[in-house]
Amino acid sequence: MKQTYSDKGFHHALKVVDELCIGCTHCMIACPTQAIRVRDGKAIIFEERCVDCGNCCKACPVSAILIEQDDFDLFFSYPVRVALVPSVFIGQFPSRINSGKIFGAMKSIGFTHIVEIDSVVDLVQQAYDRETKGSRCLRPAISTFCPAIVRLIQVRFPSLVDHLIRVKPPSDVAAIYYREKMEGQGYNPAELGIFYITPCAAKIASIKSPVGEARSSVDGVINMEYMYNKLLHIIINKEVGTETQADSTGLSSKGILWSLTRGESEHQPGRCLAVDGMSNVTEFLERLEETEESHIDFLELRACDESCAGGVLISGNRFLTVERLNKRAGEVSGEKAGKPDSGAVNLDLFFLDKIQSRSMLSLDPDREVAMEKMKKRDELLKVLPGIDCAACGSPSCSALAEDIVQGRAETSHCVFLQELYIRDKRLSLEDADKINASIWGKDRNYRSQSK
Ligand code: SF4
Ligand code: SF4
Repeated sequence: MKQTYSDKGFHHALKVVDELCIGCTHCMIACPTQAIRVRDGKAIIFEERCVDCGNCCKACPVSAILIEQDDFDLFFSYPVRVALVPSVFIGQFPSRINSGKIFGAMKSIGFTHIVEIDSVVDLVQQAYDRETKGSRCLRPAISTFCPAIVRLIQVRFPSLVDHLIRVKPPSDVAAIYYREKMEGQGYNPAELGIFYITPCAAKIASIKSPVGEARSSVDGVINMEYMYNKLLHIIINKEVGTETQADSTGLSSKGILWSLTRGESEHQPGRCLAVDGMSNVTEFLERLEETEESHIDFLELRACDESCAGGVLISGNRFLTVERLNKRAGEVSGEKAGKPDSGAVNLDLFFLDKIQSRSMLSLDPDREVAMEKMKKRDELLKVLPGIDCAACGSPSCSALAEDIVQGRAETSHCVFLQELYIRDKRLSLEDADKINASIWGKDRNYRSQSK
């Protein structure tokens, strides 16, 4: 497995498996932050640019990009094992499989407690209300629910970080709330392990290296696709002992729909907007940088189409998942058996510290050097053809220009300039062959002939 160009401690959940990668560039073209290059016939990820959105993984035709998860054995090192289950997990199962069977199967593999995360959205809402009424957050206030969006704003739209609402996402709020509650019931904190079943890579990354907090309250993450397949096998083979209910005190239709598109924005005061899908969000944020849109009060931005129903680790069809969750929401009248007790936990625990930008736009930490590099990059852009053919192994001419000033590529990587250099006898055919091999691999001709 290969991952290159470390970005000073930010954890990423996606890894390219060299042995599987065929260097087809699908991932490179799909990446919204131009974080991928092809070198030696394999994709590599520039970590400082990656926001863990999972678009590359969805685009890969040979499943060469893997999403990590914690070792399942880790869970058994905790005597008390709490699973945090988001609604979209339930929504993937066919309607004939009810939540009691799903939770029963989870108990059968060793979870001692099962909690529906979305039962805490009223606590999240209280924190939102406090934060958006204060002066820490600029208008429009941007939801911090989707960690891929938080990272996107940090790296690509650093001027917008002060619009982010500094409230932890429901998974963290649920972990904090239930940890406090269980400790209050006498559980030993050292024996308590809280595990989150995640629909996406971004949430794994945000738990491993949180933004705006030193440490996540979640102890481990479980890949939702893995858990879905495991439980489905158990349920189909009728290995579930008894149906079980989760702790879903306070779960309402609002909570069930919170992680879907418009799930948050429909409940916020003022003028609200929901945008989903990485390209739509990117386009909107570009606009926001230029025009402010200060008449909008609240912005819900989600990286995936149909929000978490379209997460990269969701096994089912996203539209069917949305339909099932709408049905489930319609069946829940009011909150189930009361609400989470906001008096039982200190609301201050749900806020994030200041979110820092970590702009990928800066070419060097030294301002003067950065200016020099920017000038050189702009000069190079006048020479490069500007057609973004990607034959150089970079996703666009501007990405190649940046790679050149950063010492990661040469002008001769551009096939058009290479042709000119050969014609002017500034480059031999042998050297051109070596350059092309450094991008597309030594066996590139063999691969194209064997197709
Ligand atoms: S996860 Fe998203 S940002 Fe990271 S390399 Fe893949 S497509 Fe690019
Ligand atoms: S929309 Fe949901 S599933 Fe997709 S990246 Fe954001 S949090 Fe993850």
